[in-house]
Parts: sequence; structure tokens; C-alpha cells
Amino acid sequence: MKLPYAFAKRFVAGESLDQAVPKVAALNEAGIKVTLDLLGENVKDRTTADETLSHYIELLQGISEQGIDSTISIKLTMLGLDIDRDYCRDNLFKLLDVARKHDQFVRIDMEGTDYTEVTIGLFKEAFKVYGKHVGIVIQAYLHRTKKDVEELASLGADVRLCKGAYKEPERLALQKMSDIRAAYKEYAAVLLDNTIYPRIATHDDELIEWVKTYTTEKGIGKSRFEFQMLYGLRLETCKELAAQGYNVRIYVPYGTMWVPYFTRRLKERKENIWFVLTTMFQK
Ligand SMILES: Cc1cc2nc3c(=O)[nH]c(=O)nc-3n(C[C@H](O)[C@H](O)[C@H](O)COP(=O)(O)OP(=O)(O)OC[C@H]3O[C@@H](n4cnc5c(N)ncnc54)[C@H](O)[C@@H]3O)c2cc1C
Repeated sequence: MKLPYAFAKRFVAGESLDQAVPKVAALNEAGIKVTLDLLGENVKDRTTADETLSHYIELLQGISEQGIDSTISIKLTMLGLDIDRDYCRDNLFKLLDVARKHDQFVRIDMEGTDYTEVTIGLFKEAFKVYGKHVGIVIQAYLHRTKKDVEELASLGADVRLCKGAYKEPERLALQKMSDIRAAYKEYAAVLLDNTIYPRIATHDDELIEWVKTYTTEKGIGKSRFEFQMLYGLRLETCKELAAQGYNVRIYVPYGTMWVPYFTRRLKERKENIWFVLTTMFQK
């Protein structure tokens, strides 16, 4: 059964770029930067992966043409990672050629643990060639992250730190919120101390306050990092942070393939179900 888009509109900015652009412009107007995400994952055939590459390229061109302040986030499984690693790398490099031409930035989202190793490997290859035009995401809940974060920081990579959104087993990932928060703080410190501009992606007040205190105590300026949140969540907090002089970016997903993303948001927090119900019938 196809769910109507009305369910998702709290978290998804539109089913097309044209629908998302006015929302991005309004966020920019409020002093908030954006990263646009064309929704979808796990493409299984080359025709669809090639089409996705074209859509990502059009997105980069669209951002330039529309004059909005946005980078893009992508998923490697949208560029054919399930089909063949080298084919996916070629697609990623084609996209990064365009990003470099437009002086743009592409962040590779992190997916489930089946993809962690290969995603980090492809990022490292891309980073060697495209440097400041490509970034990666690290999930604090994974046991392996301690080693990854140190290695990525020593390379000077541009890292978004998040908790991790996929259901992972105990042997691979921390399960208790208190442990995940402790790990998040440890890795945020590594990134803040050692990288040029880490991205702190969370809606969690405890972590936001911790980062504010840590950076103040360490003399790390507000211009040296940014907070990131998801479209549809904590907009007032984003505006408050921006008013306090922090850099803030909102991750804005759009597109017709919103079901897996939307489902993750509902599972994450029971209050999100309430948001959906209250906004479903609004224009
Ligand atoms: C910009 C961005 C990019 C992301 N990219 C990825 C990615 O590439 N891969 C990946 O696996 N995951 C990604 N995630 C998702 C992330 O891993 C978490 O699943 C998600 O952010 C939930 O964790 P949290 O720390 O935000 O808050 P939660 O753990 O959901 O909540 C912790 C506490 O924060 C507070 N809180 C949370 N939400 C709200 C709210 N709406 N209003 C008020 N208080 C709230 C509450 O006190 C809550 O108890 C991304 C998240 C963000 C923000």
C-alpha cells in the first residue's frame, strides 16, 4: 500500500526539488544553512543508479541556479553500492567532479553496518582526490567508531557525528542511551580538538549543552563547528542557537521515496508519531 505524502510532510520538505526550495530559502532567511537529501536507498539496478546520479547532479546544478545556501547529502546505496563497489566509486567520482566544478560539498551519509567499512573506504579514496568537497558521517553507537574517528580526524576529514539511526546488534553497537551519549561526547571532543570544522548532529539537549560548555572551556570559537538537526524537528532550538551565534544546518530531505526515512524518524521517538498526526491535516 502506498502511504500518502500527507503522513510524511512533517519530516520531508516536498516530493520534488521545486517544492523543497521555498522551505530551504525560508531557513536560509532565518540564518540557517541546509543540506538537501534526495530520499531513497538500496538501488538494485544500474539504470536506477545512473538515473539517481543524474538527479544528484541536477540537484547540485539546481542549488547553484536557485542561489540557495545548501550542500547535499547522499547515500552510496543510491549510487549502486549493492551492485558493485567500483561502479559505485565511479558514480561517486562523477558526482564529485560536478561538485568541485560548482565549488560544492557532498556528504556521504552513513547507512547500516553492512556498509560501514566500504563507505569509509570509498570516502578515503574520494577524500584523496576531492579534499574539501567531500565529507562523511560517523555513528557514535558503533564499537568500531573509536578507531575510525581517530583515523578520520588524523586525516583531517570533514565529519558529521551522529548517534546512529539503524537497529544494530549488541556485538556491533552500544544499546543504552547513557553509553551512547558518553561515546558521543568522547568522539565530539576528538573532532573538536583535531578537525577544522566538525558537524554536531543531534537534537539531544544534554549533548548540545555539553558541546557548548566544552567549546567554551577549551576556547574553541563558535565559528569552528556547527550544529545540525533534521527538518521538522526543533526549529525553535535551531533559531535560538543561530541567534546565540552558533552555526546551524538543517538536513532537508525531499523526494518520493520517503518511506524508510520516515519510518526511522517514527521509531526513534514516540513523540514524532504525535507530530505526524497533528500536522497531517494541516495545509
Ligand atoms: C543532521 C543529521 C544527520 C543525520 N545523519 C545520519 C546518518 O547519516 N546516519 C545515521 O545513522 N543517522 C543519522 N542521523 C540520525 C541520528 O543518528 C539519530 O538517529 C537521530 O538524530 C536521533 O538522535 P538524537 O541525538 O538527535 O536524539 P534522540 O536520541 O532521539 O533523543 C535524545 C533526547 O533528545 C531530546 N530530543 C530529541 N528529539 C527532540 C525533539 N524533536 N524535540 C525536543 N527534544 C528532543 C529529548 O530529550 C530526547 O530524550 C542524523 C541526524 C541528524 C540530526
